[in-house]
Amino acid sequence: MSDLIEQTKAALEACGVDLASLSGDLTARNPIDGKDLLNVPKHSGHDVAEAVEKAEAAFPAWRDTPAPVRGQTVKRWGELLAEYKKDLAFLVQVDAGKITSEAEGEVQEMIDICEFALGQSRMLYGKTMPSERPGHRLMETWHPLGVVGIITAFNFPVAPYSWNTANALVAGDTVVWKPSEIATLSALATDALLARAVKETGAPEGIHQIVLTDREGGEALVDNPKVKLVSATGSTRMGREVGPRVAQRFGKCLLELGGNNAAIVSDKADLELTLRGAAFSAAGTAGQRCTTLRRLIVHESVADQLTEKLVAAYKTLSIGDPREEGILVGPLIHEGAYEGMQKALAAAKDQGGEVLVGGSRVLEDEYPDAFYVEPAIVKMPGQTEVVTQETFAPILYVLTYKTLDEAIELHNSVPQGLSSSIFTEDQREAELFLSAAGSDCGIANVNIGTSGAEIGGAFGGEKETGGGRESGSDAWKAYMRRATNTVNYSGELPLAQGVEFI
Ligand code: NAD
Repeated sequence: MSDLIEQTKAALEACGVDLASLSGDLTARNPIDGKDLLNVPKHSGHDVAEAVEKAEAAFPAWRDTPAPVRGQTVKRWGELLAEYKKDLAFLVQVDAGKITSEAEGEVQEMIDICEFALGQSRMLYGKTMPSERPGHRLMETWHPLGVVGIITAFNFPVAPYSWNTANALVAGDTVVWKPSEIATLSALATDALLARAVKETGAPEGIHQIVLTDREGGEALVDNPKVKLVSATGSTRMGREVGPRVAQRFGKCLLELGGNNAAIVSDKADLELTLRGAAFSAAGTAGQRCTTLRRLIVHESVADQLTEKLVAAYKTLSIGDPREEGILVGPLIHEGAYEGMQKALAAAKDQGGEVLVGGSRVLEDEYPDAFYVEPAIVKMPGQTEVVTQETFAPILYVLTYKTLDEAIELHNSVPQGLSSSIFTEDQREAELFLSAAGSDCGIANVNIGTSGAEIGGAFGGEKETGGGRESGSDAWKAYMRRATNTVNYSGELPLAQGVEFI
């Protein structure tokens, strides 16, 4: 244990966190052994307001810095993230309990988005359109918004922050970050690396702020009219609170909320590939990804065969300290997550489900304060109530179907709409699934699982997932405001639509 504290301090220090600043009312508990590691400051609503003021004060100078120059700061951040990848990944493990390759993968995403945003800094394109009037030019220009408030969840404690921040900074915005109050250490390290990049590239110091605070502090950020965009990642419950509050003051909101992701497995699927894709998506990260596979909708003719294979694969999953080589499933974040899982399993049984494998707590003697579980597969008689909810733990519900139309109907009949996939070798089935009549999610895949998105595409989902898009493609537009410009160089004053006036 003392080893873990020392290693944590060393990683924080390597990333540039001032260890002397580590005291206060928030406790950083690690889910690996469930013990408290360090204390960090807990910022008040007043501190949040101050952070917003600082970010707002830094905005004009940053706005007026040419975008490709802003890109250089993000580029440097990416280089530092690459240099300290292992230290930061270790802190992600300590915060969220991820296995080493997934923790390093999270940091890799941050490096990737910095590269992406650097390129984007030269491509904040506006369109020009033909004007209906002679001697006129019609075009649009994109301008920064101002202060962007970023709220993040525990399970990806740093990558979504970087998706937001890399794009927001090249767009010319300044940011105030409220990381999850239960995953603060990797956040402090991420912020310290950005501070170094800012200093080395001569950017205004105030362009990034971090506040360590709970829901109440989060509300202070959400309600602050100086925060032009609130980008919030977390549960649908959180989004339901944040969305209306921001709308009330006509702020912009980008919501990345819960998922209840499904894969349809056709009778024409490659079952070996499906098995691997489904196992990673369902059991990886101990079921704690927003894109985790939670529903497997399998053609009735291959359902037994596939579930047998999956059950056998689940029995080989190594569960334990996520830092150890060969471990594939780390801990749940806390007791509440474990209880949530047990409640869902009990409800599933009540609703006619049969637990085919897993569900039990393991390693309790070794780690009485941590919560390791066997990922579960539950055969359901239909899409009952519990199946329509997101339980943030490794439970995979298996449902069967007869026709693809029925499968798509089941697939879309949940309130969430984040990620989806179909496993099939039949092009017609794949295309139908990707068409407007197919998956209603923000992410729809073929022959890969629901999790593990690349940063190049826009990330986000529909319905109760919130509708936001982050990361690649044209997600940068969410961090800017569009102005439509009409320039008259004709010397005449023809009015649009042929209107006559003086
Ligand atoms: P959570 O909703 O409990 O907390 C998320 C963040 O919101 C935290 O920083 C929290 O302090 C803050 N918060 C909560 N209520 C708030 C309020 N009223 N005002 C302001 N801030 C508030 O979520 P969690 O348990 O940390 O994360 C798991 C959830 O996040 C899951 O539902 C998961 O699907 C979702 N998630 C979604 C995505 C995505 O991109 N769609 C990514 C990661 C996680």
